[in-house]
Amino acid sequence: MSKSRMRASFAAWRAAHLVERLARLQRAAGFEGGLNPVQWEALRYIARANRFSRTPAALADFLNATRGTVSQTLIALEGKGLIEKTRSVKDARSQSLALTDGGRALLDDDPEAALARDIDETGDAALVSATLEGALRRALAPRGGKPFGPCKTCRHFRRGAGAHHCALLNEPLSAQDAEAICVEMEAA
Ligand code: SF4
Repeated sequence: MSKSRMRASFAAWRAAHLVERLARLQRAAGFEGGLNPVQWEALRYIARANRFSRTPAALADFLNATRGTVSQTLIALEGKGLIEKTRSVKDARSQSLALTDGGRALLDDDPEAALARDIDETGDAALVSATLEGALRRALAPRGGKPFGPCKTCRHFRRGAGAHHCALLNEPLSAQDAEAICVEMEAA
């Protein structure tokens, strides 16, 4: 155990243990619907990611997994009829991922919804979310991991009266894009 970890407060240790227990419960629920936990994570990612981020490479970054592992996950989801892969319009070497109607229907029964409801019932969902996001960013920073935060919190996001704009990619953004997560996101 490193010294820096030992200096964490009692409350911080308690929070870390609670996150671990919640994660264990989530893993157990992650075999519902005939999927495994990683397949559920990939489905959720594709549902939440913007059009610049629905690629196998970005999914590998999000999951902190190898391209080979992600490829196997995507083959399984495609075989179950839950996602489809198309060639990217901008880069023919890159694939773009999309949910099928079956994938969207399965996400209506996402086992993670139960945890989201439990968090809502604490009455502090926004505070819990902000705290966990801060902890995740700190955990990712030394590993060079990407935060994948919502577009509207990115320093390149330019809010408009109607449409919004990405100053990094020079692309228009819709209200739906503003809520989506992005592989290029950098905290404002
Ligand atoms: S504003 Fe940031 S998060 Fe949004 S599309 Fe551009 S780079 Fe991605």
